[in-house]
Amino acid sequence: MLLQEMNWPAVAALSKDTPVVIPTAALEQHGHHLPVFTDSMLVGEIARRAESRLRERTLFAPVAWLGNSQHHMDFPGTMSASPRVYIDLLVDMIENFLAHGFRRIVLVNGHGGNNVPGEQAIFEVRQKHRDRDDLLLVFACYWALGCKPHEADRSIEQQAMGHACEWETSMILALAPQLVGDYRRAEPVDPAGTFDPAHRGWTTKDRSTPGHIGNPRVASAAKGETLLGLFTADVVNLLERAIAWNGSPWS
Ligand SMILES: [Zn+2]
Repeated sequence: MLLQEMNWPAVAALSKDTPVVIPTAALEQHGHHLPVFTDSMLVGEIARRAESRLRERTLFAPVAWLGNSQHHMDFPGTMSASPRVYIDLLVDMIENFLAHGFRRIVLVNGHGGNNVPGEQAIFEVRQKHRDRDDLLLVFACYWALGCKPHEADRSIEQQAMGHACEWETSMILALAPQLVGDYRRAEPVDPAGTFDPAHRGWTTKDRSTPGHIGNPRVASAAKGETLLGLFTADVVNLLERAIAWNGSPWS
């Protein structure tokens, strides 16, 4: 079900065990060749496909397109909620649904800059409602739910999410090729240099001059369709778990 197409009595009539999905994304620079709405388009498409399989068993909120993109602010066109504002924004959206009785909230994220504030938001909501034992609060990135695209399709080179990279460029080629610029002339940008296994604070211009991270040159629409299918299957699997959750605190 799509929240934006429903009236309030229909929402009021739903089982409060229905998982509510909030897709989270961003509007930020994606190199010289992809549109700034890339993350929102991609998580929106994965949400659209997942909803079409799950129908009345889940309730999807519209894509929360404003994300935390402070690290991209050196590139024009980027819009960003600062990290603390973004945590509060997510907390309020989760609290909106809790106020209306829903108990299972799943944030399906499509932008890496949202990871830390997104996990912080569900942490804070959980602590606030610490005496309840009926809440399922989950944050998940669609690309980190288990599938291994490079094993499913040996022509896929990349093994983890980059930025405006082989994966993202391929998926936008599959969805909206008219919005993709000259990705074949984009020089590869090595994703290394993050001080692993420690986490080093970074801005995008520390790591990339053109804005992308990875190798967009090897993208293709066919790879994009494969990636969208794998990521959608993982999200559907996660939501099936949320639907089937038996209410036990941990399992
Ligand atoms: Zn992206």
